Amino acid sequence: MHYEGKIYRPWIEADSLLIQVTLGCTHNKCTFCDMFREKRFRMCDLEDVYSDIEEARRLYRHVESIFLIDGNVLALKTDKLLQVLNKVTATFPECRHIALYGSMNDFNRKSVEELKALKAAGLSTAYAGLESGDRLILEQVKKEMTPEEVISGMARAKAAGIEVLLSFIFGLGGRERSREHIVETTRILNLTRPEQIAPMALALQPGTELAQQAEAGEFIQATPLQILEEEKYLLENLDFPTYYWGDHGNNILTLRGPLPQMQQRFLREVELAIAEHPVTQEEVLLTYAW
Ligand code: SF4
Repeated sequence: MHYEGKIYRPWIEADSLLIQVTLGCTHNKCTFCDMFREKRFRMCDLEDVYSDIEEARRLYRHVESIFLIDGNVLALKTDKLLQVLNKVTATFPECRHIALYGSMNDFNRKSVEELKALKAAGLSTAYAGLESGDRLILEQVKKEMTPEEVISGMARAKAAGIEVLLSFIFGLGGRERSREHIVETTRILNLTRPEQIAPMALALQPGTELAQQAEAGEFIQATPLQILEEEKYLLENLDFPTYYWGDHGNNILTLRGPLPQMQQRFLREVELAIAEHPVTQEEVLLTYAW
């Protein structure tokens, strides 16, 4: 199998077969992220992709779930992505789930017809980073995406029937902008109603611009108490059915399940942690680099 460089996939896709289709991320500028810093975005050689798919077929008798790596595979031209999807579904007819990373602006750059064609070819789910719904924070972290672009990208995904998991980062507004961050993030989530959501507590990745800003005192990390308060606000105010993946390894609590069914139970757990968890006495949350 051709795997190049450090490989990332959502923790939710731990059991999926990984097929590398691209290298890196087209954007590669977010101040908090070092996932693909050493890679320049390009599509892998199609012959290599095909040979990996065939080799995986020889290795695995039954594959229900496939995740296409690396960064935003959805940025590929639609005809190229269709070629890959058609090869995957022809080779693994039993596969029920094909997912990839894609940004909201990748959705915006494709027509609904193109997205429907990708869905018809087997693409089921895209993992996209919202990070924050707050315009200023999105600018500060150089996401180069506006709340309006998130709304239009999600509308296209829904029109095409492609499920979206939107991830976002507790603490991304730092100590100063914690409230605005969670209020605006919750507002965008309620407006766009993604099928799945995944909050992750901010982990400062060594060497990133954000880590340097923190060292220079230009970015003050949110306290663990603020992070719990963000999760409390979120759970008090989300008003649509979704699946909550609040169990990332850097989160204070491990909350995972369908909303609204689990919402009150999760909220009670957060309120209990705010009242009693020793981490609320700490200045900074201990997290692990990705
Ligand atoms: S957060 Fe996503 S879009 Fe931003 S640089 Fe990292 S991989 Fe690329």
